[in-house]
Amino acid sequence: MGDVPDPFIDLHTHSSVSDGTERPAELLQAAVAAGLEGVALTDHDTTAGWDEAVATARELPVTLLPGLELSTRIGYRSVHVLGYLVDPTDAALVAETTRIRDGRLARARRMVERIGADHPLTWDDVLAEASEGATIGRPHIADALVTRGLEPDRSAAFRGILHPASGYYEPHDAPSPLHGVELIRGAGGVPVIAHPAASSRGIVIDEEMLRTLVDAGLGGLEVDHRENVSHGKRTLLDWATRFDLFVTGSSDYHGTGKPNRLGEHRTSRAAFDAIVAAATGSAPVSGPGARLA
Ligand code: AMP
Ligand code: FE
Ligand code: FE
Ligand code: ZN
Repeated sequence: MGDVPDPFIDLHTHSSVSDGTERPAELLQAAVAAGLEGVALTDHDTTAGWDEAVATARELPVTLLPGLELSTRIGYRSVHVLGYLVDPTDAALVAETTRIRDGRLARARRMVERIGADHPLTWDDVLAEASEGATIGRPHIADALVTRGLEPDRSAAFRGILHPASGYYEPHDAPSPLHGVELIRGAGGVPVIAHPAASSRGIVIDEEMLRTLVDAGLGGLEVDHRENVSHGKRTLLDWATRFDLFVTGSSDYHGTGKPNRLGEHRTSRAAFDAIVAAATGSAPVSGPGARLA
């Protein structure tokens, strides 16, 4: 490329509308303070934070790419699919994200019931940790365990009481990755597999599944992410070349809920432009002085 440096773009963050710790407005302010020029809001299974994020982005020197992180699964294996610039009113997407959030709520209640049989933890403790209407998940149970003094911090809770091997865990209901990609495409958005090489057991999908997802409209792979292991990243880069996918890099920021820092990994201008060009569901939002506008 020429001498203009790539802008500073982070395409994966969470607010308190799911399991981050900052309101969407605070998240946008933190992004600007961190020097980001482009940022995506990708709360789990919800676009409920978009209005606040859009209103804030219009006032700040930053470009917002509204999105979500859709929960999907293959059996017990969880596969997260980022969806950028969907139409947030798309009926099929709204119906499925509502179903996933309802399933998450019922699953969290069952987990808390089992934990509560052995430890002093109640459902009200968990509700006290979540914003009104937030997508409930293990992070909120973790925060309640910390408040109760049963775990030292959120990450420890994930390694302890909330670990799949603890006996309290159960997966939540979610569609297949193929259906997830189809839903995002159907809503005019651009699907990207989140942290595909984050599992110690290797990449979450195999090449045959990748081909199916590419045929359904998968746009890219999130390669630069702190949880992707290095040998997995090499395979992902090889796949990206062979299947003509773009690659992204992102922080997966959760506020104080995770050690991930805003902008710790970044996405190229070329990938950002590819997403915007492929999307028909909605458009990026920029405020005065935004470099990506
Ligand atoms: P769940 O989807 O309910 O099974 O919970 C898994 C989610 O917890 C993932 O989306 C993670 O991003 C999130 N999470 C948030 N904070 C942490 C943490 N400190 N350690 C591990 N996972 C976390
Ligand atoms: Fe999360
Ligand atoms: Fe994820
Ligand atoms: Zn995430």
